[in-house]
Amino acid sequence: MTEKTKLHCTYSMIFRYFQSGIVIIGPSPLCFHHLLKWIPSPYNENGKENIKDFDKIKRRMSNNRSSREPDSYTMNGGKGAYSYSNNSSSQRAGIEASKDIIDEAISKELDLTKLSLTSNAFSVVDLGCSTGPNTFIAVQNILDSIKQKYQSLSLDSEIPEFLVYFNDRTSNDFNTLFASLPPNKQYFAAAVPGSFHGRLFPESSIHFFHSSSALHWLSKVPGECLNKNSLAWNKGRVHYTNAGSEVYDAYAGQFAEDMGKFLEARAKEIVFGGMMVLILSGIESGMCHSKQPAGLLYDLLGASLMDLAKKGVINEEEVDSFNLPLYTATPEEMRERVERNGCFSVVRMEMMKSKLMMDVFLTNVHLATMILRSTTEDIVSKHFGSGVMDEVCQQFSAKALDIAKKLNPEEYQGYRLLVILKRN
Ligand code: SAH
Repeated sequence: MTEKTKLHCTYSMIFRYFQSGIVIIGPSPLCFHHLLKWIPSPYNENGKENIKDFDKIKRRMSNNRSSREPDSYTMNGGKGAYSYSNNSSSQRAGIEASKDIIDEAISKELDLTKLSLTSNAFSVVDLGCSTGPNTFIAVQNILDSIKQKYQSLSLDSEIPEFLVYFNDRTSNDFNTLFASLPPNKQYFAAAVPGSFHGRLFPESSIHFFHSSSALHWLSKVPGECLNKNSLAWNKGRVHYTNAGSEVYDAYAGQFAEDMGKFLEARAKEIVFGGMMVLILSGIESGMCHSKQPAGLLYDLLGASLMDLAKKGVINEEEVDSFNLPLYTATPEEMRERVERNGCFSVVRMEMMKSKLMMDVFLTNVHLATMILRSTTEDIVSKHFGSGVMDEVCQQFSAKALDIAKKLNPEEYQGYRLLVILKRN
């Protein structure tokens, strides 16, 4: 190859690096040629393209990317039979059960006169909104309470305009969400895509944060649970329910890290005196994880996947390397995180008993399967392939029917953890 051809090949290769998402930042023109030497050539000595090497590099880079920012999985979009919007009544029950407590907290603790409003706009955020309709109900309840508070203080003329930000991961079906916005809504609406484990808004720009049924999603599966050489390797299971304490500890560590980041970001974004309402799966300290309905569901999902592995539909290593990034926190863990962050005071911290999921499980296996499918199809399909979910659901339904006959419902208890915080 002539020098000229080499140079042409190398520059076109750099173009391909850019195309593949590998970004090179800041070399001065002088060090550019040194940089070229450092990048492995995708051409062999005969000048032929070394596709295998190039693809290997590309794959390595994309693996690195995904360890930093894991695959973005989300709830089933659209409005079809398996969609989140058609299978989220159990999550809606959490919003409804919290309504009066949130109302009271707004009425007693939200000091409207001290909140700094720029341009008369009151900003409310729902974090992890999914596709609706639950988010619209939650947001409307909050706005009604705030308006009610203005009225009770005879400040009717000062009721601000409301701007509601709907946040979820970038892969969320925002089209379905916005196509179903209530036609008579009395607020402006905007989407803010991105992970709530990081910053989403400018400093001191938000007055009220809300999040329901979302914060039990971890940012990623703890690395130890996927490492064959670790005591926390979660072989043959997809969750810490019924696994060894090392697995549970790894999940607990991930939750602590994620919640730390979450609170740190929100503390910057919320105005002083602003309020934050968080509703997430909860568990009493010391309670056995397998005795909460969600744990039962995750365990059955794991067992269903193992059955499919035994049948040869998927392979066992695939099951070993799959875990659900879901964590159920105790009130003590939440309080510890809030105290460590130091920017919020706790207005309310409630464990609310919830029978709903267990009732669904015992009386309506079809609905239990739909709930599982609408929330986990994306993450399962991304790992095992898109065709596998029908078979997973068949296995799951059969197992659930069988177990529902045998278990003693008195032994199971579901909880929601409601946390209401105020920015100091
Ligand atoms: N709040 C709604 C939806 C809950 S479903 C309700 O109560 O019905 C959970 C949602 O949280 C999903 O849409 C999921 O994509 C979102 N979610 C999970 N982790 C997230 C993250 N790190 N950042 C933003 N959204 C997240």
